Amino acid sequence: MKPAPKPGILDIQPYVGGRSHAGGAKAPIKLSSNESALGPSPSAIAAYREAAGRLEFYPEGSAHILRHAIAETFGLDPARIVCGNGSDELLTLLAHGYLRPGDEVLYNRHAFLVYRIATLANNAVPVEVPEKNLTVDVDAMLAHVTAKTRLVYLANPNNPTGSYLPHDEVRRLHAGLSPDTLLVIDAAFAEYVRRNDYEAGIELVANNANVVMTRTFSKVHGLAGLRAGWAYCPAQVADVLNRIRGPFNVSAPAQLAAAAALKDTAHVEACVAHNETWRNRLTQSIRKLGLRVDDSVGNFVLIHFASKAEAAGADAFLCEHGLILPGMLAYGLPDCLRLTVGTETANRKVVEALAQFTARK
Ligand SMILES: *Cc1c(COP(=O)(O)O)cnc(C)c1O
Repeated sequence: MKPAPKPGILDIQPYVGGRSHAGGAKAPIKLSSNESALGPSPSAIAAYREAAGRLEFYPEGSAHILRHAIAETFGLDPARIVCGNGSDELLTLLAHGYLRPGDEVLYNRHAFLVYRIATLANNAVPVEVPEKNLTVDVDAMLAHVTAKTRLVYLANPNNPTGSYLPHDEVRRLHAGLSPDTLLVIDAAFAEYVRRNDYEAGIELVANNANVVMTRTFSKVHGLAGLRAGWAYCPAQVADVLNRIRGPFNVSAPAQLAAAAALKDTAHVEACVAHNETWRNRLTQSIRKLGLRVDDSVGNFVLIHFASKAEAAGADAFLCEHGLILPGMLAYGLPDCLRLTVGTETANRKVVEALAQFTARK
């Protein structure tokens, strides 16, 4: 006899983050985890340094300062905001709070791996729905809804494909769900999207008891190392999350740095502008090399190669040149590498290395 984990847990493949080393390269350039090319706001760094002088104290448990900074920025009710140790924690806590064994959880075929982990950890059933052109297909999602569907995860924009659903389509998805099914809109890349028909989900949360939107400080705010995210929730969902989260789940430095980052709107705008310029240039330059690159609204692009072997060859070649791009095997896209938009220097190096790789054959 020995301790046995709950059913479902040993079916989980542990999440493997983007690599940070490239063979022997001395100072590899990491373009593997959709981190910010320009880093955090200087005022976020200053707030973090200041917090270093008070590390003996517990953080304020409800993340009051951060929730109020978010509420002010977005015009929301602070009581309906819950902060997390990254939005991953909130995506996971929603599953812990709402899933019973055998419940079904819907998400698209090439979705963020955390959804599957959170589902299996609760002995619930992942239902991975086919996409159309690597974009969430609302008709297919609705066709897979059953009486057992309790939770739907929608990354909008989606990682790793870079595609997004216009607001009308998100509304149509929501309209097809039972009121006791939770729609979780993971808007980790919302700040990067400049499309008139896109909305992160605030209005849907405001008007419905079964929609939650999650956001993160890891992407445009450049604070992935600190771990801070937030959810805007119906009051009853916020209550559930507040009962099951760790009492001090967001560290004091993370709360203070994230609140400072939000206020530096000029930095956010500069990051979005840099991303827009370089994502478009990268897309065009890599397409000119004869490779398929999907349109992306995020801070990354998906590059397609002729085969899994070609993608692996490109990965090895890029690594030799000190460039780390992750393969997409775990996402069911074995022919692809995902490229995070980097600094100007990094972006130029990637295009140059890919040009050499494609010319070799
Ligand atoms: C990066 C990312 C997140 C954010 O995770 P954090 O835990 O907040 O760092 C959430 N969802 C998707 C789809 C992501 O790519």
